[in-house]
Amino acid sequence: MDDESKSVVVIGGGIAGIQASLDLAERGIKVELVEKDSCIGGRMAQLDKTFPTNDCSICILAPKLAECFRHPNITLHTLSEVEEISGEAGNFKVKVLKKARYVKEDICNGCGDCAEICPVRGIPNNFDVDLKSHGAIYIAFPSSVPLVYLIDDTKCLYFEYGICGLCAAACGLDAIDFSEKDEELEFNVGSIIIATGFDVFDASLLPRLGYGRIQNVVSSLEFERLICASGPLNGHLVRPSDKKEPKKLAFINCVGSRDIRNNAYCSSCCCMYTTKEAMIAHEHDNEIESTIFYIDLRAPGKDFQKYLKRGNEDYNVTYTKGKVTKIIEDKEKNPIVIYEDINTFKIKQETFDMVILAASMVPKKDTGKLAETIGVELDKYNFFKGDTYHPQLSSKKGIFLCGACREPMDIPTSVVDASGAAARAAETIMRR
Ligand code: SF4
Ligand code: SF4
Repeated sequence: MDDESKSVVVIGGGIAGIQASLDLAERGIKVELVEKDSCIGGRMAQLDKTFPTNDCSICILAPKLAECFRHPNITLHTLSEVEEISGEAGNFKVKVLKKARYVKEDICNGCGDCAEICPVRGIPNNFDVDLKSHGAIYIAFPSSVPLVYLIDDTKCLYFEYGICGLCAAACGLDAIDFSEKDEELEFNVGSIIIATGFDVFDASLLPRLGYGRIQNVVSSLEFERLICASGPLNGHLVRPSDKKEPKKLAFINCVGSRDIRNNAYCSSCCCMYTTKEAMIAHEHDNEIESTIFYIDLRAPGKDFQKYLKRGNEDYNVTYTKGKVTKIIEDKEKNPIVIYEDINTFKIKQETFDMVILAASMVPKKDTGKLAETIGVELDKYNFFKGDTYHPQLSSKKGIFLCGACREPMDIPTSVVDASGAAARAAETIMRR
């Protein structure tokens, strides 16, 4: 299919955007996959394992990343953002700004010699939720796709003071190009899919839970990186304050979710993923006991209830129906969870080694700007608004939605959603 108007722009290279792109590409439709970050993979790449099978997340994702990168019908544009959209279904014009990487994508082989010699250190690595750092030239994670380094021009000495250039001297392939400029791209496409994913609620907005103040209180995404073999601790879990191995963990569900002062909706995955995180922690060290504090346990998927039962019976997980009101710490920096036991209506407290907050899934912070650029509506929570009965349909004809940019959902649901959006996008352009 050569006609440009019969191709599709997919915005967002997480699991939903990847699946939508692959489905379209397999049907012979050309895809322009536009990703804001330096690589594709999104949130799924940050996870250690996935429920309900506890499979290694990157092991499932990596073949899809590679397929997406190599597929002749998919063109990947990283460090790229949609700036303007005009036209209508079947004939959209999409303007994209591709930021300079300063490393030639077609030459760099990802050897990392440049990063080793870079004298700049200590830049927080967003991929590792700032728990690890990198230099001014870096990749997000070792199996990044594309495996091409990039220079942070706000931290690089060459851009700041006009000195250094050590990376260029170290690169045997002459891949560094300090003169690279941002580029304007333009595509004529028949249809657009939005798959921009979600952000994690900032738990420090609930000071009573101590996040950001009590060292041994972490977010669930931080915990994923801490227990991940390729994470900052190489999978050897120790608590932040004293590097001791924790034996007693508390997981607090619904942090920022189902709360009319924050996000009134359910984040849909926390009951399952806190169980998964407790299971993995127990697999790492079978002396670990976990308590999951919940308001309701929501496990609607097939065999999900069985999964929670397994957590309880095989992995030392206790489920406590309790509303956590406050977290304080003792002199040894052990967090103390104060909660209302919903079965007895009594206020109780219990001391743990570490607390993990299941912070809610919230719309990406630039969702409003993107919605304005594209001209689609948002719902009352600021997620992209889908049609009630055909949720992949946005408020604008020819533009489709999938994954957690529409509402919180787990990985398998995002994949199904993405295939639905891809089918809708294909219908739009095939009909013409
Ligand atoms: Fe290796 Fe050069 Fe790429 Fe750095 S820029 S990873 S040295 S090929
Ligand atoms: Fe690091 Fe910049 Fe020096 Fe390269 S030129 S080694 S990126 S500081």
